[in-house]
Amino acid sequence: MPNEVAQILGNAVHLSSIGFAVVTADGVVNYANPAFCEIFLISFFETHVGCLLVEYPLIRFNSSISKLKLALNCPAPAFIQLHVDPDLMPLTLDIAALNDGARVMVAKRGQGSQIEFEPPNGPYYRDHLTGLGNRRFLDEILANWQPNSPNALSLAVIMIDIDRFKKVIDALGHCAGDTLLKLAARRIQSAIREQDTLVRVGGDVFVMLHTIGLQSIGTESVARRIVELMGRSFLIDGQQVNISASIGIAALNHGTDTITDLLRHAEFALYKAKESGQGNVRFFEPSLALQALVRYRFEIDLRRALVLKEFIIMYQPQVNLTDGSLQGFEALIRWQNPARGLLSPLDFIPLTEETGDIHAIGEWILHTACKEAMSWDGNFSVGVNVSPIQFESERIVDIVSNVLANTGLPPDRLELEITESVLIKDFDNALKQLWALKSLGVGIAMDDFGTGYSSLSYLNRFPFSKIKIDQSFVRGESSPKTRVLVQSIISLGATLDIITIAEGVETQEQYDQLAADGCKGAQGYLISAPIPTKAIGKFISDFRNKTT
Ligand code: C2E
Ligand code: CA
Ligand code: CA
Repeated sequence: MPNEVAQILGNAVHLSSIGFAVVTADGVVNYANPAFCEIFLISFFETHVGCLLVEYPLIRFNSSISKLKLALNCPAPAFIQLHVDPDLMPLTLDIAALNDGARVMVAKRGQGSQIEFEPPNGPYYRDHLTGLGNRRFLDEILANWQPNSPNALSLAVIMIDIDRFKKVIDALGHCAGDTLLKLAARRIQSAIREQDTLVRVGGDVFVMLHTIGLQSIGTESVARRIVELMGRSFLIDGQQVNISASIGIAALNHGTDTITDLLRHAEFALYKAKESGQGNVRFFEPSLALQALVRYRFEIDLRRALVLKEFIIMYQPQVNLTDGSLQGFEALIRWQNPARGLLSPLDFIPLTEETGDIHAIGEWILHTACKEAMSWDGNFSVGVNVSPIQFESERIVDIVSNVLANTGLPPDRLELEITESVLIKDFDNALKQLWALKSLGVGIAMDDFGTGYSSLSYLNRFPFSKIKIDQSFVRGESSPKTRVLVQSIISLGATLDIITIAEGVETQEQYDQLAADGCKGAQGYLISAPIPTKAIGKFISDFRNKTT
């Protein structure tokens, strides 16, 4: 535009009866014409360059102030109405963003003819529970985000996840969970600056958009403050609830190059934070993306493993300590992975529990173990580990009964091994299913006894067929204290009429000591490492030859 024209336009704007201002996205007024000042009832001379629009008396206490801030931050043209005084006509403001990030405002008194601007804060963009923005709102803001001031050159995504949230729901119900989310939202909100945005993206995950300058130092302290706030007790329905929050952070120009990667990277960082425990804060680093990719591939491979028949079951013998006879075998899964070799269940079962693949895999293990047990020479029992997750689906009773029907295995030869966590999750439901399983005629063993909460009342509330003494006790049995512990578990079993079996027996000394203490069974490398089903025939005949 030629200079003279700009000059003429400038004068025209200055003399216009329409209010006219140029402000930054942060609301700093760089220019306001006399009409604009008059509309806002301030003297033209008070409107010095650099003052804040939100400090204008008519705006300062206006209920629409947050809407105004949102409109200023929105790169799309916006139109809002401010009801500044019941006796006055509403103020209407048109806001348009210029290329350089400045906003041009046109202010009029009176009703505007346009439909009022809904900055993305209509119901479609709201999370109804907390009143915060939702995932759509976040996407909108991210898609339109531009650096707009030296203090907001960059953007950090702070992703906040409540630890143990599911536990709260399990213990106190969904209503309490909702209350907790509302209270948590309020607390996080109290820790953030006005120019930052908090949204709930779903479940118990919140995302805070934190504008930053050249340095991202402040981001970590905001995150730590949130962790600290969430660590304080919440009071819900008169009950004290303690939780913690884990946080992952990704910042533009600090390891993340594009806005579109911000959320994904924050999620990787969050995942890493959770991996190392609760209440942690982690920044995204490029190596995390690689790790996530590796995990993703692992997950895909794992999902295909069942179809590709890459799982095998090994069986570990269990002997009777009283007479030295062979009693049965525990089924232990392995993953024969073409690239990674033979993998231990500890390397992949936890992931299948997270992804839900444990349901299909667990069903396969049950079926295969029962089928293979039918081919053994003798009525040996087969122990199958059942994950707590399998108890969540309520299908476990049907699955077991179908497997027994399909394989023809007599129910008393099957023993399901469960850990205490099955009972901790939803005690009544677990108990109901355990009784239903018991009525099918199968045995239920309490696995890894002594490692969890070991609430003795569990043993009293359900007739377990076996207590498996965890190998950590067996290994430490040479110490007098551990020996006393093992002895008390054994006598507890005797009192309740439950058979005790020791896991991880590796030496003759352990074997003899357990036998002397009255333990009924043993399993461990001393007797045999887990073996494939095709080796069982030979194992059984060798065993018979050895003991006769
Ligand atoms: P677990 O049920 O406690 O199984 C016993 C583990 O101890 C097995 O490890 C076994 O190989 C190992 N072990 C046996 N004898 C000895 C010994 O003398 N010394 C030592 N140090 N270790 C011994 P594995 O096969 O790696 O299984 C690990 C865990 O994975 C199992 O612990 C069980 O919790 C889980 N798991 C195994 N198979 C399945 C399955 O089919 N389904 C589910 N849900 N979990 C399974
Ligand atoms: Ca077991
Ligand atoms: Ca065990």
